[in-house]
Amino acid sequence: MNKPPLSWQRLRLVIAATAAAATTIGLAPAATAAAPSNAPTKCSLATAVSIRDTTPPSCFRAHVSLERLPAVGDTATVRVKVDSQVAAGRVDFTVRVTESLEILAAGSALGAPQADGGWSKATGTVSLPVGSKTLTFQVRARAEGPAQVEAGVNDAAVNSPEHSAFDSTQVTVGKGSSRAGADFTSLPGKAATSRGVSNPKAQQAPPPAKTKYQVALAPAGQICVNGGFQYTYSGVTHNVANAKISIHGLRTANSAWEVVATGQTAANGTYNICFWAPANPMYALQVSHGTTNGVWEVRNNNSQYYTSLSAVRYNTYTGTDWNAGTYTPYAGQERAWHAFDTMNQLYSARNSPNGCWTRHETNGCAIIYIQWWAGNNDGHFYQPNPSAATSYVRLKDADPDSEHMVLHEAAHAFHHRLYNFWWPNPTCGTHQIHVASNMGCAWTEGFANALAGYIKGDDRFVWPDGSWISLMNTTWFNSSYAVSTTNWNNGDAVEGRVAGSMINLWRNADGGPNSTITLLSYYTQSTFFEYFNDRGHQNLDLTSASRTRLYSHTIDYRQVLGNNGFESGAVTWSWSAPGTDNVIGTWNTYAPRTGTWYAWLGGYGYDTTTSLTQGAGTPAAPNGKDGKVTLSFWSRIWSEEAVGADPYDILQIQVVDGATVTSVAPQLSNQSRSNGYVFRTYDLSAWRGRNVSLRFMSDEDATMRTDFIIDDVQVTYNQN
Ligand SMILES: [Zn+2]
Repeated sequence: MNKPPLSWQRLRLVIAATAAAATTIGLAPAATAAAPSNAPTKCSLATAVSIRDTTPPSCFRAHVSLERLPAVGDTATVRVKVDSQVAAGRVDFTVRVTESLEILAAGSALGAPQADGGWSKATGTVSLPVGSKTLTFQVRARAEGPAQVEAGVNDAAVNSPEHSAFDSTQVTVGKGSSRAGADFTSLPGKAATSRGVSNPKAQQAPPPAKTKYQVALAPAGQICVNGGFQYTYSGVTHNVANAKISIHGLRTANSAWEVVATGQTAANGTYNICFWAPANPMYALQVSHGTTNGVWEVRNNNSQYYTSLSAVRYNTYTGTDWNAGTYTPYAGQERAWHAFDTMNQLYSARNSPNGCWTRHETNGCAIIYIQWWAGNNDGHFYQPNPSAATSYVRLKDADPDSEHMVLHEAAHAFHHRLYNFWWPNPTCGTHQIHVASNMGCAWTEGFANALAGYIKGDDRFVWPDGSWISLMNTTWFNSSYAVSTTNWNNGDAVEGRVAGSMINLWRNADGGPNSTITLLSYYTQSTFFEYFNDRGHQNLDLTSASRTRLYSHTIDYRQVLGNNGFESGAVTWSWSAPGTDNVIGTWNTYAPRTGTWYAWLGGYGYDTTTSLTQGAGTPAAPNGKDGKVTLSFWSRIWSEEAVGADPYDILQIQVVDGATVTSVAPQLSNQSRSNGYVFRTYDLSAWRGRNVSLRFMSDEDATMRTDFIIDDVQVTYNQN
């Protein structure tokens, strides 16, 4: 059976051909990038202590120390020694202390202290010379318990991590004497606010008998407990969703505590848990709020989650509702709770078909463990080990102050789970958002930066001290200046360029990151280049529109083939087919994948071949920066051959290199049939730098026709 003849389409082909030249015209790099606003600096005061650390070297370094360890009632001088490699005239100086201490600002550069959640905070403005300067202020110990003193400096004129520093020290305040260091995890939580809970001693009498005006929700035999949990950050109160609630009880004064019920907080931070009481009345009940659930957990340095306890209620009879009240953590736990709650944002964005992180988790969730404790200075990173139990996020002391930082490190854990615990093998070393590292590092870090910036909705990365950088830098590197946070390197080895490209695609082409998340759960990639070429598997855009978006972020993946969607007709392609038949055309038999034109090879049902070639003069396998060249296209194949028959009719994908013709695997055949278009990719890296031709060739046997439909062919390489 022959294809329907082409007639009027010919006319259109000629008209369309005049526009064909525009298909691969690229944009020229901006020749005159704006000069960086700040002179190039050589900041080398490393605050990083891990090779995977996200904090770049800084021009400032801070060290906080206490001249003495104050006992209750004592005062002590806090010394903040700041080393600086640049002179800075207007530097924000911020200190915070937890509630066992108070700031005495008199005589210092600090203004009056103010409440900051459970902390006390004071700020001032100082100048810093090149060299070092010691800033001092006094604190008074006002209560027993673990305490922390923090200090940070941030150049008000250059809002950059390269012009800021942070440090902290800990003390455990005692009566008469105190000791260095703090274990914020050793004390139970206390009720900072407790609504609906009166003095526990007053509750030791049985509750009054119910009257007809009192209606308990608790069924007979059960006790219901309701309450909530909140934390405060920067003066704003947040409800904590998905926190573990455990209700502990004593049957009698002499029995042991037991867990009588568990649950978790709802989206608004409240809970209402009913349970069959093992005794009536329960001698005592107490609620524990914990930084864990079945999906993620914030842990201390003993691998235990943080808990905060309610007041104890005595003599609770069945049929009773107990409003246990709304609680908050004390200051030493606030960052643990902030990190825990930030994970709700990643959880909401995970696009999983189940309650876990990814579709791979069909037998329990692969819990993301986040290690944080006060005073930790051991870097911020994700450790990708072969299982969830051994993999973990590590956060430094102040890191939870940056939700971007928490989301970035947790995004690595999410990425690892999408890849079902496979991980690419880049050696990231010390990496920075604006500096070229390697394509592998830029891919994993770029994805994490993109997800954090996208989830936060501000397209930035924000450091814990509040300094930040926009990921959407579209200015090309100016080689007249040193690389800096305002003069980024170009290309796909720069994590900020990758992150900006991904956010641009998500916002403007993909309708968000969901399809990318699904793609990563089916295909693994070691580089952004591989990711981009895999996008067709999820029908994500690969047209020049998306390639132009990447180019605006200095990543040059512009398409190499001319007329790659066949919309200009026969232009740039040549073919062979029986008689005067066309291989490129518009037919009603099949719908094109895009536009109106497509290529049709085969379709005869007798022993014949057809071919389609984009020939010499087209650099089909050019010399990419990293040596990778990828061919991709969509195929739709229909056949008269029986389903399951041998591959009698085949389509070979060939590279013609002079006299050498090579068919790249896999060949397609009547066995590759599909009702719709299927995305195919081939690695042409072996021919990089060669001036070759690309050829599709069908070969049918004596009977039974097979139609090979091809559309939207592209050859991609890294032109940076
Ligand atoms: Zn990272």
